[in-house]
Amino acid sequence: MSRGPEKVGNTTRGIAYEEPLLFERSRPGRRGFALPPLDVPEVEPEALLGAEACRETIPDLPEVSEVDVVRHFTRLSTWNAAVDLGLYPLGSCTMKYNPRQNEAAAALPGFAGAHPLAPASLSQGILQLMAELERHLAEISGLDRVSLQPAAGAQGELAGIMMIRAYHRHRGESRDRVLIPDSAHGTNPASAALNGYRVQTLESGPDGLLHPETVAAAMGPDVAALMITNPNTLGLFETHIEPICEIVHTGGGLVYGDGANLNALLGIARPGDLGIDVMHFNLHKTFSTPHGGGGPGAGPVGVKNILAPYLPVPVVRELAGDEGEGFVLDYDFPHSIGRLHAHHGNVGMMIRAWAYIRSLGAEGLRRCAEMAVLNANYLLSRLRGTYHVPYEGRVMHECVLSDRLLQGTGVTTLDVAKRLIDYGYHPPTIYFPLVVQGAIMIEPTESESLEGLDRFAEAMLAVAEEARTDPERVRAAPTRTRLARLDETRAARRPVLRWQPAGPSKRP
Ligand SMILES: *Cc1c(COP(=O)(O)O)cnc(C)c1O
Repeated sequence: MSRGPEKVGNTTRGIAYEEPLLFERSRPGRRGFALPPLDVPEVEPEALLGAEACRETIPDLPEVSEVDVVRHFTRLSTWNAAVDLGLYPLGSCTMKYNPRQNEAAAALPGFAGAHPLAPASLSQGILQLMAELERHLAEISGLDRVSLQPAAGAQGELAGIMMIRAYHRHRGESRDRVLIPDSAHGTNPASAALNGYRVQTLESGPDGLLHPETVAAAMGPDVAALMITNPNTLGLFETHIEPICEIVHTGGGLVYGDGANLNALLGIARPGDLGIDVMHFNLHKTFSTPHGGGGPGAGPVGVKNILAPYLPVPVVRELAGDEGEGFVLDYDFPHSIGRLHAHHGNVGMMIRAWAYIRSLGAEGLRRCAEMAVLNANYLLSRLRGTYHVPYEGRVMHECVLSDRLLQGTGVTTLDVAKRLIDYGYHPPTIYFPLVVQGAIMIEPTESESLEGLDRFAEAMLAVAEEARTDPERVRAAPTRTRLARLDETRAARRPVLRWQPAGPSKRP
């Protein structure tokens, strides 16, 4: 069981290897290309583009060869933790495997080469795909309409809350309070506050769930909405969701469902059926489009029909009857909250999500959720007793542990996370959710095999054992990485600037 990485050998320890910036590798005149001699008359750029489009100086770009660039980025890429290298248990982030066939679909020349300014008549393929993806997401969530525009979950939340505000204003109601349980994702209060709402935090019960009495006590004629993350950030399904939605609706409010954690519900429960009026999807989580360290994501927002008039424009619409056949972008939504993204949104993510949904089908999506939930519960059962479990019971797609049982060893959640890097794992989410002191939040996703889960569980158990027998080793981690533990507090105070740009050079 104890497979301490030091036993494998210490050849990578202590390497002081620095990768210079491309700017530092720059040598005047070095090029990554060779062009044949000019055989047409030379034209001044100003003559071609107009003087206002040309600048006097050119940016100071590195002058490097192709092999310099390829080696630089290939070396950097080997420093990264990636889901393609191993389990990436970053709770709440759903770091599932990104199937390669989705990449192939997004790279099809007809999609990859499509121009966002091409007219609808020349963009029928992508518009049809968008219309189909909207329908699939509506079906999966039990909602009526979907807009694919938002570029991330947080922007989907912003869109949803803006629609809620537009809805109340349109009805002549001035409601300015939003209720948010303490187990919600941090983006929820931020989205509400950005829209000018007062946020009231609701306490979850000792079982980690939100209780109808709590919501009833907080309701009032000024409440615009309840924002609820389900499953919540403790990984627990909010079992009282139906009566809770009823209480909010009776009081004239709407319910925003944070759907970023839809991975646990796919094909099993539909938020719309449970009473949710509006929610966002995270295509980059549940629907396998790559994310983390460089997006782009996509956070479509789905609504019940009562909110459809406020959807962001444009909306993809299938022509019907006398209009003929095909798809158009429809801007005719007088009550729309407006536009949220240039052009069609992050289309590459939509293609990948469409491919994912279509390749798995209804059965496959359901199986994803079942396996994701099974995997989280399996890890929980292997780690319970060694790590403290703050809320008992079955979890959904992720489980939350804490460092309470390590008290007295001097080892904390942060040390455990850093030590896991030495074992080859990206650390779990730590110190979140805030309602658990020293939280360690693990989301294995459905991508992992039983052997993969066992290897990770054994690493976690080995770290706990080390905390008792050799706590200094855990506190010194990571030791097998390019850089040792960063002093994150100092780094924040004193940023290290290694490269000082020279002044702008004249265009040659
Ligand atoms: C990730 C996440 C968000 C925010 O999504 P982004 O795409 O990162 O903006 C919101 N809520 C929950 C529960 C999440 O896990």
